Amino acid sequence: MKEVAITRTIIKNHMSRLLDRLENDVVIAGGGPSGLVAGFYLAKAGKKVTLLEKKLSLGGGIWGGGMGYKFAVVEENALPILDDFGIRYIKDDNMYAIDSIELASGLIYGAVKAGVEIFNLTSVEDVVVQDGRVKGVVINSSPIEIAGLHVDPITLISKITVDATGHDLEVVRVLARKNEIKLLTPTGSILGERSMDAEEGEKFTVENTGEVFPGLYVAGMAAVACFGGPRMGPIFGGMLLSGKKLAKLIMENLK
Ligand SMILES: Cc1cc2nc3c(=O)[nH]c(=O)nc-3n(C[C@H](O)[C@H](O)[C@H](O)COP(=O)(O)OP(=O)(O)OC[C@H]3O[C@@H](n4cnc5c(N)ncnc54)[C@H](O)[C@@H]3O)c2cc1C
Repeated sequence: MKEVAITRTIIKNHMSRLLDRLENDVVIAGGGPSGLVAGFYLAKAGKKVTLLEKKLSLGGGIWGGGMGYKFAVVEENALPILDDFGIRYIKDDNMYAIDSIELASGLIYGAVKAGVEIFNLTSVEDVVVQDGRVKGVVINSSPIEIAGLHVDPITLISKITVDATGHDLEVVRVLARKNEIKLLTPTGSILGERSMDAEEGEKFTVENTGEVFPGLYVAGMAAVACFGGPRMGPIFGGMLLSGKKLAKLIMENLK
């Protein structure tokens, strides 16, 4: 029966992809701009990258532009990244405007085509910690999590784990909450996001992209929330540059 063939095709393909990703070079939690850009460059360099997104659709905070007006803004220094993805932009008042629909869909498509294996509806709820190092993620199905069902999660192993969960900083928070550890921040703890300063915020995001605990890196707004930087509103260059820097740092680490 056709119905059986349809169901078999879905289950077989999903399971073979999932089985292939039990062990990874890099697992990225969060499919916003920083996670997608990092995944793109790492996969292009031949690394085995799996990206987990808890929502149905990826793109994080891109889709709504600023207050629902569908344009995102970057400055000149982020243009090479847009060019690598083939995403178009319009020069405007010394800034560059990008249709947020093209930005989100272009980053997602670019990451998939580069070889990033993406699982949506998959929430990272904890990490694997052994010998003082993060060695993977503990994941569950988002619908199970949202329903509050009493169902145990499963585990994916990775040489490097990335928290790109944005403002919520979910992976670092659970690590800090459950373990008596010191993060690689000035205080050893999470410093929390500060009020708006676009110029400083963008710089801060890129500067503070990096390792926050052995085996665990932060990028994008997660880096801001972790290291105590200012928010910056709907300017996205910092997020893109953070993803690219993260890929470079991880490539050096994996050597
Ligand atoms: C309330 C709000 C305030 C904002 N304020 C700012 C701001 O001050 N400055 C700024 O530049 N931009 C802001 N933005 C816009 C936007 O979020 C960011 O600029 C940009 O999208 C951040 O990129 P990112 O890659 O860090 O993470 P995001 O775009 O936030 O993407 C993170 C992704 O991680 C996913 N995720 C979260 N937790 C998990 C988990 N446990 N497991 C799996 N996936 C997970 C989310 O569903 C999301 O798709 C804001 C957006 C919102 C909604």
